[in-house]
Amino acid sequence: MTHDTTHPRTDSPETENAHAHAHAHAHAHAHETEHENEHAIEHDAVVIGGGAAGLSAALTLARARRDVVVVDAGEPRNAPADGVHGFLGLDGIAPLELLRRGRAEVESYGGIVVSGTATDVRRTGRGGAPGFTVEVTAPDGGHRTLRARRLVVSTGLVDALPPVDGLSARWGRDVVHCPYCHGWEVRDRAIGVIGTGPMSMHQTLLFRQWSDDVTLFANDRLAPDDGDRARLEARGVRIVEGPVASVRVEDDRLTGVVLADGTTVPVGAVAVATSVAARSDVLVSLGLDAEPHPSGMGTIVAADPVTGQSAEPGVWLAGNLTNPGHQVVMAAASGVMAGAALNMDLVSAETRAAVEAVETWSADATRRSATAPETAPPSQSPHTTGGELFDAAYWEDRYGTEGWAWSGDPNAALVDEVAALTPGRALDIGSGEGGDAIWLARRGWTVTGTDIAVNALDKARARAEEVDAEAAGRITWEQHDITGWTPPRASYDLVTSHFMHLPAADRDRVFRGLGEAVVPGGSVLIVGHDLSDLDSDAHRLHHPELMFGVDELVALFDPVEWTIVTAETRERETAAGHEGPATVRDVVVRAVRAL
Ligand SMILES: Cc1cc2nc3c(=O)[nH]c(=O)nc-3n(C[C@H](O)[C@H](O)[C@H](O)COP(=O)(O)OP(=O)(O)OC[C@H]3O[C@@H](n4cnc5c(N)ncnc54)[C@H](O)[C@@H]3O)c2cc1C
Repeated sequence: MTHDTTHPRTDSPETENAHAHAHAHAHAHAHETEHENEHAIEHDAVVIGGGAAGLSAALTLARARRDVVVVDAGEPRNAPADGVHGFLGLDGIAPLELLRRGRAEVESYGGIVVSGTATDVRRTGRGGAPGFTVEVTAPDGGHRTLRARRLVVSTGLVDALPPVDGLSARWGRDVVHCPYCHGWEVRDRAIGVIGTGPMSMHQTLLFRQWSDDVTLFANDRLAPDDGDRARLEARGVRIVEGPVASVRVEDDRLTGVVLADGTTVPVGAVAVATSVAARSDVLVSLGLDAEPHPSGMGTIVAADPVTGQSAEPGVWLAGNLTNPGHQVVMAAASGVMAGAALNMDLVSAETRAAVEAVETWSADATRRSATAPETAPPSQSPHTTGGELFDAAYWEDRYGTEGWAWSGDPNAALVDEVAALTPGRALDIGSGEGGDAIWLARRGWTVTGTDIAVNALDKARARAEEVDAEAAGRITWEQHDITGWTPPRASYDLVTSHFMHLPAADRDRVFRGLGEAVVPGGSVLIVGHDLSDLDSDAHRLHHPELMFGVDELVALFDPVEWTIVTAETRERETAAGHEGPATVRDVVVRAVRAL
């Protein structure tokens, strides 16, 4: 088939077109080793911070068939605690076990979890579309740069305890802050609340729900007014004045609060409100600064309370970073919301791009019918990329219209490579309107032309009958989706594929399968658009991830079994440039199977 390049263009400002496809997951994995490469894959989303919030966002995105990478430094806020309480269905699970399971779930849907610290984020978006680079330092000090269309940031916060000796060593055990997390575990003990500010009053009344033996240590940090004192007294809460110096620990158990004057008040647990600081360093370059939380308990980075959308387009926030009151299940829920909102944003952008592409395609079609250039879609396979669904329906639609998409001439590389060969049996993959298959048949080949689209085959059959009824009798037309069909082994003297641009996950397997279909002494001829065409004035879908080079093709054919007779990039002129004729380059590889 005479393939070249005119197709719905989507390299508009809202191109949004690199990924988002089921096939991309393996593809994304492959690129993970190619960091620091400007052609490194631009993931649909990078999630910075893989705690409950970030992993929930990633799970939502991976299940939405988004290509998502989580970068996590592995220090969740609740790491000192034995268990996560109040998480329905998993109550008491160890914090790191919950995250281990979360990582596995994300990975089971194709998400990638990278251990490391994101140190900086920069905006790279083009033409108003968001886009980011994320600098990552691995635990071994190695560095990589990830690219992302969108971001979720869920880096959590840092708790600062008041300067009381011994407190931090007991943190998360018998020094606690959250009654819903640990109230049950310290129930009925003598609980001392160490005052740090106004929140301590609130905390004291809450902890009274779990014990009738509660003491509030004012610690020179709060001055209960008469109303406060009345409430505390009514609930049987004692108030101890004076600064707290330390906690007493015996046999690995907290047993008392020691005042600066040396007095020890026996308690079995301490509740203390921390001062929280949003872990927002990574957002500084984007201009998203931490700001005081209205409660006075510390800092947060502001975001929409429902969706997590930050002030920066393309960046969603989740979990404790934006709400210090979130327990694990709430942090997880906010991650789900952020993931869903991010996905919706991509869906909207992709829909805009698709509409624009259809409009551009219509305009191109008008010019094409006037100039009848050689033109070709980007591939002959059902896959999606960046919201463009190149499935059977796409190709049926593509060939379902009146008139001809292509010139009917054979591809130049086919003519160059095959003209001197003795005709035999040929298999033409992605035969489209039949240009190549008809040319082969007219030279005496017995041809099987295959295409994913029945409409294409109908057109090709009609064209063959019209052009040369005798040659048409040597062509069999078969409908196959090459990603799900294996041609019969060792059956053809020639197997050709022109401009079939598949995702990497399918490409090698399919091309090797074409080789398997060749008889000893026969040829496989694979031709594709060269990566450099993306910078040319030709009509090209901007999907570098679908392109391949000469070396990649050559590597598919075992030198013991194959002789590479052609491996080069060839220039040719096409009439189908944006502004008229343009120079394009084709990757051409022909291999001959050993006898
Ligand atoms: C002692 C203690 C016990 C608790 N117990 C409970 C409980 O029993 N039940 C409950 O529901 N809640 C509990 N909580 C609250 C719970 O910790 C939070 O709700 C939860 O951790 C919030 O999840 P998150 O994903 O927002 O943040 P985190 O869980 O803190 O996760 C943030 C992640 O981001 C990573 N990160 C940070 N910066 C970067 C960066 N620049 N690059 C890469 N990664 C980064 C961190 O290493 C971390 O892994 C407890 C809190 C504390 C302090």
